[in-house]
Amino acid sequence: MSYSLLRIAREALRGGSGWTRAWRDPQPKPQYDAIVVGGGGHGLATGYYLAKEHSLTNVAVLEKGWIGSGNAGRNTTIIRSNYLLPGNEPFYEHSMKLWEGLEQDLNFNTMVSQRGVLNLFHSDAARDAAARRGNAMRLHGVDAELLDTAGVRAMLPLLAFDAARFPIKGGLLQRRGGTARHDAVVWGYARAADRRGVDIVQNCEVTGIRVANGQVQGVETTRGFISAAKVGLACAGHSSRVAAMAGLRLPIESHVLQAFVSEGVKPMLDTVVTFGAGHFYISQSDKGGLVFGGDIDGYNSYAQRGNMPLVEDVAEACVALLPQTSRLRVLRSWGGIMDMSMDGSPIIDRTPVGGLYLNAGWCYGGFKATPASGWCFAHTIARDQAHALNAAMRLDRFATGAVIDEKGAGAQPNLH
Ligand SMILES: Cc1cc2nc3c(=O)[nH]c(=O)nc-3n(C[C@H](O)[C@H](O)[C@H](O)COP(=O)(O)OP(=O)(O)OC[C@H]3O[C@@H](n4cnc5c(N)ncnc54)[C@H](O)[C@@H]3O)c2cc1C
Repeated sequence: MSYSLLRIAREALRGGSGWTRAWRDPQPKPQYDAIVVGGGGHGLATGYYLAKEHSLTNVAVLEKGWIGSGNAGRNTTIIRSNYLLPGNEPFYEHSMKLWEGLEQDLNFNTMVSQRGVLNLFHSDAARDAAARRGNAMRLHGVDAELLDTAGVRAMLPLLAFDAARFPIKGGLLQRRGGTARHDAVVWGYARAADRRGVDIVQNCEVTGIRVANGQVQGVETTRGFISAAKVGLACAGHSSRVAAMAGLRLPIESHVLQAFVSEGVKPMLDTVVTFGAGHFYISQSDKGGLVFGGDIDGYNSYAQRGNMPLVEDVAEACVALLPQTSRLRVLRSWGGIMDMSMDGSPIIDRTPVGGLYLNAGWCYGGFKATPASGWCFAHTIARDQAHALNAAMRLDRFATGAVIDEKGAGAQPNLH
């Protein structure tokens, strides 16, 4: 069923009786041409682009819980392509271009809102770094504007401009950045992949990866063995555990990242803004709640909940930037398991096991990458080689030294 204005009008008159299920609930088949493990945004997008771009339709996406139950449904929904390094920037800009046409492509309202992303700076040195990043973006054909204090004040008069500790000296603005509705992205990709014949199998946990003579044979699951000559792993925070089933030890640590939503208030922020004197990002949802987050908790964990010290840290940054939020009540908070790589950049690559492919290491930033990640991973799986856009995102770069250290923080995953 196609969604359209006409369809909505017709269903309104029929009491909604004509709506059908958005995607099927198939039994897993004993054999597929390709299996994608993980029904988050990346796994579902991979399934969709395998069918759309490479005409591979005998494909299954296997999810241990329900689709979107991982980080795809837990993030703060920020999308942007304001990267510095050549290994990253063209990839994230490709993602941004896919976001810009996503609703038409998927025939689904993913609520992409290009309300802008503004990274504030509070010192002259930070202005230099922002100018450099903006120049790198423009050299890649990406929009970037360096604002002074007056420029930021004209956009967001409510910020604490003259705070004694962190006066706002300006910001780097990407107007095409913004937000998208995370659940809708999951549902949109699931529906579009299903319409092209991809099986989306929920409640199907992969418990083993069968390998013979260095070649993948298929996966053991809670619903039996499923054979496939190609298996792609898109398990985000669980990447290390799943890859270990094939004997691989990944350069990835799992950490908790929390997010928060406040009670609804009148419109006060019409863009995404980040605090430059700490790690803090905030936007306002269409329902009025402020959606915000900060750093990872800083210890390895598979728990999807966080700790109080980080709540305090995030609240401090929030009040430093927007003092009027000090009496606002937080309605909800939660955690997700982040797949932190050693250089803060992702891996989309083949693995030493033939037919086994890896998509991981997304750190804080994988939601914005969802379209390009699926697109590039599908290419890598279908053609058995990386696309130019993910050529630098190699698994062996930590051995060769060709790292993509966007922050310059070195091999310390908790600092990226
Ligand atoms: C609090 C928070 C805020 C964030 N904010 C942003 C943001 O503003 N912008 C941004 O770009 N990124 C953000 N991120 C990061 C982003 O959400 C992730 O990088 C991205 O969602 C990861 O890809 P995914 O959607 O495929 O992951 P997931 O949704 O986690 O998908 C992985 C799936 O694999 C499944 N799985 C695991 N093991 C198995 C198994 N053995 N068998 C079958 N299935 C399995 C899991 O159940 C899960 O559904 C945030 C993350 C969090 C937690």
